[in-house]
Amino acid sequence: MLSLDEQHCRKLFGYNLHIERKTMAEEIEINYEVDIQKIISSQIAFFEAGKTLDVPERIAKLKKLKKLIEAKEQEISAALFADFKKPEFETYATETALILSELKFIVKNLKKWAKPKKVKSTFLNFPSSDYIYSQPYGNVLVLAPWNYPFQLSISPAIGALAAGNTVVIKPSEYAPATSQLTKEIFAEVFPEEQAAVILGGVEASQELLEQKWDYVFFTGSVPVGRIVAKAIAPNLTPSTLELGGKNPCVIHQSAKIDLAAKRIVWGKFINAGQTCISPDYILIDEKKKTEFTEAVKKEIKAAFGEDVQKSPDYARIINKKNFERLQKMLEGQTIIAGGETSAEDNYIAPTLLNEPSLDSEVMQDEIFGPILPVLTYSDEAEMYKIIGHYPDPLALYVFAEDSNFSEKILKKYRFGGGASNDVVVHIANKNLPFGGVGSSGYGGYHGKFSFDTFTHKKSISKRATWIDIPLRYAPYAGKLPLIRKIMKRL
Ligand code: NAD
Repeated sequence: MLSLDEQHCRKLFGYNLHIERKTMAEEIEINYEVDIQKIISSQIAFFEAGKTLDVPERIAKLKKLKKLIEAKEQEISAALFADFKKPEFETYATETALILSELKFIVKNLKKWAKPKKVKSTFLNFPSSDYIYSQPYGNVLVLAPWNYPFQLSISPAIGALAAGNTVVIKPSEYAPATSQLTKEIFAEVFPEEQAAVILGGVEASQELLEQKWDYVFFTGSVPVGRIVAKAIAPNLTPSTLELGGKNPCVIHQSAKIDLAAKRIVWGKFINAGQTCISPDYILIDEKKKTEFTEAVKKEIKAAFGEDVQKSPDYARIINKKNFERLQKMLEGQTIIAGGETSAEDNYIAPTLLNEPSLDSEVMQDEIFGPILPVLTYSDEAEMYKIIGHYPDPLALYVFAEDSNFSEKILKKYRFGGGASNDVVVHIANKNLPFGGVGSSGYGGYHGKFSFDTFTHKKSISKRATWIDIPLRYAPYAGKLPLIRKIMKRL
């Protein structure tokens, strides 16, 4: 007899292949039996033999990957549903479609990006032609989290491969169905010596971090980010750290409250709030609080119906550990909306909390779940004090019709990226770099920024030999006035 979930998955996706994997989603560790050393040695040899350098070949493989992902769209949705009941719409919009569009963009532009770029030369080196060569780093390690398990494993990896590196991807052990499928997809397109997906938990990560890499790209929590930075420091390995933080969402009295509520409900409760750039807490002008909370209640009902637990459009918390962590945050809080939980299927309702104190558990670290504290401010000084209480967030949002107010906030703070009058959407534009600052990480990617992240920009001066101006050579006697004159003109 199939369970309700199994029936739902079969109805949705036409088969139950990944249902068996669902039971694995509760497990933290996956058995991994791969020879990490062997894979890394083969990737080093592959890179050193220059086999990643051919740009048309890179493009051909990325095209093949795109085709395969298109063909497996249903399987991808089924895997994410198996891992945490992610709705098919959300999987398409926030995982598959983003990757496909990123691949399309890379395939279209890679030839141009990979070409040596001619820059203006300097009179000091006359005559010369000067260039920037985009040099792949070499062997890249990508460590990924579970919350957007498909997108966050693949997006950095395609940047690394496009740039001519080899890559080892270690997806999260908490999303086993998606991680397994990612492995199968990569194995169909790339030889292991070019791209390999290694399944496993913390142990596998640690073993990988003990190796020497030419670049490490980590997405995950701040504490593990610190572990990664420390592990790779002895080799001075360049890296990107995509971390998290407490993302403020400021609502000014001039804001269109109904629209703000609609957009915030979407961006906060998509993926059941397990989004690194979702608004972590609301900071609203106290005069507008009741209007806002009433509008949010209305929007939750409009999106997910009377009984959110029965909605097919609302995901679950990834596992028991995170469910319990979030449930604990609700203790002792005044709940404005939601608050229902069900341990049986790791369900936490979209929840609004009324003014928790900054000392309470929910206001300590990033929430990373469908709980939204609503704090108020009576004047700007109070608002600044609350935002300034936390380290640099990954995202910041401000809702206001008063554009001077928005601009002031957007310019005042250091944060990874953000939006005015919306949330989360800045991630969708490939022309914007995506990344954190300070404790929310460093480095950025997406689109051309991914290519740049994974290439060393090598400066090359090509000197001519038909003339050799003697000014720079010793003996220097009598040459200082002339060099002074030249330098001042530059
Ligand atoms: P995590 O830090 O627990 O795990 C991320 C990866 O690190 C996993 O592959 C895991 O196996 C590995 N890992 C865990 N502990 C490790 C250890 N001690 N040593 C070595 N490797 C270890 O993060 P998570 O729970 O998977 O993801 C949630 C976090 O990721 C949140 O903080 C969220 O804000 C952040 N995040 C950031 C972004 C971004 O783009 N900035 C995107 C998504 C998630």
